[in-house]
Amino acid sequence: MTEELFRDDATLLTCAAVVLGADAQGIVLDRTVFYPQGGGQAGDSGRLRLADGSVLLIADTRKGKAEDGSPAGIVHLPAPGQEALLARLRVGDSVVAEIDEERRQRHMRFHTATHLLCALIPHPVNGCSITAGYARLDFHMTDPLDKDGLSAGIARLVAEAHPVSHRWISDAELDATPQLVRSMSVQPPRGSGRVRLLEIDGVDLQPCGGTHVANTRDIGAVVVTKIEKRSASTRRVVLGIAEGA
Ligand SMILES: [Zn+2]
Repeated sequence: MTEELFRDDATLLTCAAVVLGADAQGIVLDRTVFYPQGGGQAGDSGRLRLADGSVLLIADTRKGKAEDGSPAGIVHLPAPGQEALLARLRVGDSVVAEIDEERRQRHMRFHTATHLLCALIPHPVNGCSITAGYARLDFHMTDPLDKDGLSAGIARLVAEAHPVSHRWISDAELDATPQLVRSMSVQPPRGSGRVRLLEIDGVDLQPCGGTHVANTRDIGAVVVTKIEKRSASTRRVVLGIAEGA
């Protein structure tokens, strides 16, 4: 298994790590700052600096799976054309893992902005995709949505500079605090023993394992670029960075 350093500190860009496995499928480390694709958020790209000074480029990151389907660490997917370098990598090698800061920053800004949308649109979410270029969120609802009104709502919550924080809570604490569940915009998953709660102070509270900026002001100039009626009961909201920002 891989220690998931990004869960407790999304600002970490780099860490020292040891290779647990390396083959054509990818590289598994004992710890990593690379977020694996999941919860709608795209995986990180970056590089592994090897002990001899060479650099292995990582194109994307995924959650690993054992043959029986159980989780098996985080897999760093090498960019194509690095076979010779990969062949030299050995279990036990020390590396320095380093993510692409700009791409992750976009993921964190858009991801946090999707939480603001959840607060502005009080309907269940049934689809989510967060990339470096845009984010989209599908809401289960039939009413029309106002694009400019939503952009103004996001801008207001960004300007109000709400702190963003997370905490871990056990299933038992969750069961003992039903009012907490009631105040959440999404029902927490149960059964894994603990749940990671993401709170935007005074705005949104929900279970979430993704990476977020530390304050809504760090979201910057994110606007609604498009609203689509995907079906009679689904409205899709697309977010982008404002032109000229
Ligand atoms: Zn989140």
